[in-house]
Formats: sequence, structure tokens, C-alpha cells
Amino acid sequence: MRPFIFDRAGDMASALQMGRATGRGERDAPVQYLAGGTTLIDLMKLDVLTPQRVVDISPLRATRDEITVGPQGLVLGAFASMAAVARHVGVVENYPAIAESLEQAASAQLRNMATLGGNVLQRTRCEYFRDTSWGACNKRDPGSGCTALKAVNRNHAVLGVSDACISQYPGDFGIALIALGADVTATSEKGERTFPFAKLHKAVDNTPHLETTLLPGEIITRFTIPAAAWTKRSAYVKVRDRASYEFAIASAAVAVELDGPNVRTCRIGLGGMAYTPWRAENAEQFLVGKPLTETTADAAAKLALQGAITHGDNDFKPELARRTLVRALLQVKAMDL
Ligand SMILES: Cc1cc2nc3c(=O)[nH]c(=O)nc-3n(C[C@H](O)[C@H](O)[C@H](O)COP(=O)(O)OP(=O)(O)OC[C@H]3O[C@@H](n4cnc5c(N)ncnc54)[C@H](O)[C@@H]3O)c2cc1C
Ligand code: SF4
Repeated sequence: MRPFIFDRAGDMASALQMGRATGRGERDAPVQYLAGGTTLIDLMKLDVLTPQRVVDISPLRATRDEITVGPQGLVLGAFASMAAVARHVGVVENYPAIAESLEQAASAQLRNMATLGGNVLQRTRCEYFRDTSWGACNKRDPGSGCTALKAVNRNHAVLGVSDACISQYPGDFGIALIALGADVTATSEKGERTFPFAKLHKAVDNTPHLETTLLPGEIITRFTIPAAAWTKRSAYVKVRDRASYEFAIASAAVAVELDGPNVRTCRIGLGGMAYTPWRAENAEQFLVGKPLTETTADAAAKLALQGAITHGDNDFKPELARRTLVRALLQVKAMDL
């Protein structure tokens, strides 16, 4: 780890003033915010992130950690801990996909420490990104190439990828957020703005080193998940190499509103599969007006994986995702509400 200046911001105004040079997720951004620190410190120790200054924004936890379930939906302060949201009764009962995505992530210790804002901004676990002895990594060093294309790539993405980068978005909570149509609110010195969570992460394009659409210095302050008829019949199904303390190889967040045996509304997010949190709108539309059966769920899941691009070791992923999504859809159908 390199020497750096450590500052603590006592309130939002001083945080924004100190954080002007945070950039948009670039490796060489001179300033990084620290919330729970569970991923930032790792990446600094690995020399992947090399800030000259770290601004500790964890004092904001005291005032920006609200968890409110009401007519306006579910409002989550970005500084709430993963653990607090996962065990909140109102979230568990009304937004099970959100609670389950957080409960199945990381470990109990990490969930206590980590914040929601830090969670959605975590970096890929691509081993060639995290180990600087690998020379070629466009996300770490723009223009250097992509080692993963021709190396072991079992855990890499198959949707939304390009030859510039095939890394996988590793988070679980973001998959539930995209499925449930969440908004994110961010604050900068210019004020507050709210936009769809689906627009937070940038597509790969030719610039994998630019990860988000946040403005330099902007701080995520809130997530809002709309109140809707389908949030109660929702679930997060995660498949991983071991049953805890492990990232997803495949996951599905689904929410369904039924009209008798037929689907009135359906929302699907896929994890462990794509470059960004991924919503499968074609599969959602296919199911609307149809009975939810193993046959229709399977047809929808095949649509969701259309266009998947594999690179050898990850050839198994589209089939695993298909099975995971079918399981999730049949699981929410069977919920006794
Ligand atoms: C061993 C291990 C296993 C894990 N397993 C999983 C898993 O299975 N599923 C999963 O989803 N995650 C997993 N994680 C990731 C973990 O959930 C994240 O490390 C954690 O959520 C990050 O939150 P934090 O508050 O600690 O972020 P920090 O480390 O403090 O910050 C992360 C990044 O976000 C920026 N940032 C933080 N908060 C804000 C904000 N409000 N506004 C703007 N920028 C901000 C920081 O500058 C930094 O760049 C795992 C992590 C580890 C170490
Ligand atoms: S997949 Fe992306 S993060 Fe991994 S080596 Fe290639 S460019 Fe880097």
C-alpha cells in the first residue's frame, strides 16, 4: 500500500468539498471515498486503486441510514448497513428479493461493516484486474488489452461484454435493485439528482475503466424502490461454489404479479452473468399474459440468455443461468401470500 492522506468528513458539505477529485471509478482517481472500507482497502493494498487522499465519509452513517417502508415504496439510505436492511422486518415481508440479495452476500462481519452505497460501487472480482502482475487489463490500464479473453475465464460475464472487457459485475443487491425498478439519488455540490438505478453503471463500450455515470465527487445518498403489486412476490436465487461467503456464478432476482394463473407483470434481473446489473426485459414481456409454468418459464429463460457470448471456460454459464431463472420463477409462483 502506498502512503496517502486520510481525511474525515463530518458532514455532507465537507465530504463534497474534500471529494471533488473522486472521478468516476477510475483507478488513478486522486481521491477515494471510504464508507465501510471493505472493498476500497483491499484494492488499495493490492495497488489496484492508488488514491493520494482517502476521505472517510462513514460519519454520514449516523444520519443517512434510514430504512422506510411506506406508500412511496422502500427508501434506503445509502449508508445503511447491508445487515440492517437484510434483517428489517418491513423489507423481509414486502421486498423479499432485496432482503435475500443482501442476506446471501459476503459474510456476517462484512454485512455489518459494509454500506449499500459501497456495495453497488464494488469493483469486479476479475483476477487479472485485481492482480497487477498481469499486464493486460483495459479496466485497470486503458488500452493494455484484456488477459481474460484467452486465459482462465470461468467466472467471467457472457452478457453485455465486448473484446474490451468480459468482467462480471459481482454484486447481489444491484441485481434486486434493477429487477424492482429502483431509483438512485446522488448529491453533489450542485444539489441532488435522482435517476434510474439502471443508468448508474456504464455499458462496457471501449472504456471499461469508466464504470459509472456518477459525476466527480458525487455521493450516493439514497435508493428508492417503488411500491408495486409485485414486490411481495419476489425472490433472489443465488448459485455459488459454496453456500456462504461467496460471489454468485449465476443469480436471478424475480418479481411477479399474478392475475389468476396468468402473469400480469414480471420483472427479472440476472447476476453473475453480465458486465453490469442486467435486466431481461424480453423475457419479462414474453411471460406477460401467459400462465407461469415450467414450460413458459423455460422459454422465457432461453430468451433472457439470447445473445450470450462465451469464451471457453464459461461456456456452461448460459445453461446455468437458464436453470437458475426457471427455479426463481417457479419459487415465486409457489409463494403463499
Ligand atoms: C471476501 C468478500 C466477499 C464478498 N462477497 C460478496 C457477495 O457475495 N456479494 C456481494 O454483493 N458483495 C460481496 N462482497 C463485497 C462487499 O459487499 C462490498 O465490499 C461492500 O458492500 C462495499 O461496501 P463498503 O461500504 O465497505 O464500501 P467501500 O469499500 O467503503 O467503498 C467502495 C467504493 O465505493 C465508493 N463509495 C462508497 N460509498 C459511496 C457513496 N455513498 N457514494 C459514492 N461513492 C461511494 C468508495 O469510494 C469506493 O470506491 C464481498 C467482499 C469481500 C471482501
Ligand atoms: S475482463 Fe476486464 S477486468 Fe478482466 S482482464 Fe479483461 S479488461 Fe481487465
